[in-house]
Amino acid sequence: MRVVRTVAELRGGLAGPRSAGSVVGLVPTMGAFHDGHLSLIRRARRECEVVVVSLFVNPTQFNEAADLAAYPRDERRDAALAAEAGVDYLFTPPVAEVYPTGFATTVSVAGLSETLEGAHRGRGHFDAVATVVTKLLNMVAPDIAYFGQKDVQQALVIKQLVRDLDLPARVEVCPTVREPDGLAMSSRNALLSESDRVQAAALPRALRAAVRAVRSGERDPAAIRSQAMSELTSSGVRPEYFELVSPDTLSPVARIDGEVLAVVAARVGAVRLIDNETIDPLLARPAAGDGGEHSEQEKLECIARC
Ligand code: AMP
Repeated sequence: MRVVRTVAELRGGLAGPRSAGSVVGLVPTMGAFHDGHLSLIRRARRECEVVVVSLFVNPTQFNEAADLAAYPRDERRDAALAAEAGVDYLFTPPVAEVYPTGFATTVSVAGLSETLEGAHRGRGHFDAVATVVTKLLNMVAPDIAYFGQKDVQQALVIKQLVRDLDLPARVEVCPTVREPDGLAMSSRNALLSESDRVQAAALPRALRAAVRAVRSGERDPAAIRSQAMSELTSSGVRPEYFELVSPDTLSPVARIDGEVLAVVAARVGAVRLIDNETIDPLLARPAAGDGGEHSEQEKLECIARC
């Protein structure tokens, strides 16, 4: 594995394999790798001849200075995990390589960027994500780029910008990898105290409550939401939002008459957590760590699937 820090070095390395027709895959990350990241990397490894992982903690997408300062960073550990997973290039540019003096362009995806996370973190969050991902897609020029369902709104924003800007990459969205109690893996989980960690498990429980309500025939979003909310409030979690929305537009649904996305965001201790679950009223399938427990084997199978 080569660790590269400049666009010129990266393009130089990729020119040969690309002209030989190799499929190039990109996994954009902000580092502090966990099994969620590794599931994306493993899938890219299976589907692509050349795998590039970018590791860039994008300062512009943090709406709180304290969140950026506390964001976990461990490049040495990440590099070891990436090498072990068979990554070809770990692209870790310094901030000045991505935003040189005089940088003045913003990519902004209307509509999708304005709701849920956009409404709570501020519109600038997704503008910053859209801008940095557009730049990464132009720097690496991958055939396939891999993102996680965990950040579903981000994935939708990126799909939209790839379509709108005619970027020649295919976007693949991989399933959320969870801890045994259902908590979605996240680099920020490392910042949870022991008691916060117990409270955090209320988020996947709330999503499971919504799935159960739909499976038992409930079709009224308000009734489903109130069952989910009682899981949260009984654990002392006051969410910023818990909504049932369209999986395509993220608009609230008036009634469940097809696939719906349950989305939740909550601050637990000093950490802001997000999670989501797609609910198909016609399908009975495990959701958000259904049953509360995943065996080690089930977890590995879940990781292997992506
Ligand atoms: P991040 O480093 O948090 O920006 O995440 C990098 C990529 O990994 C994004 O596409 C995320 O959606 C994805 N990701 C983060 N957590 C998970 C998870 N638990 N399961 C699957 N993908 C994830």
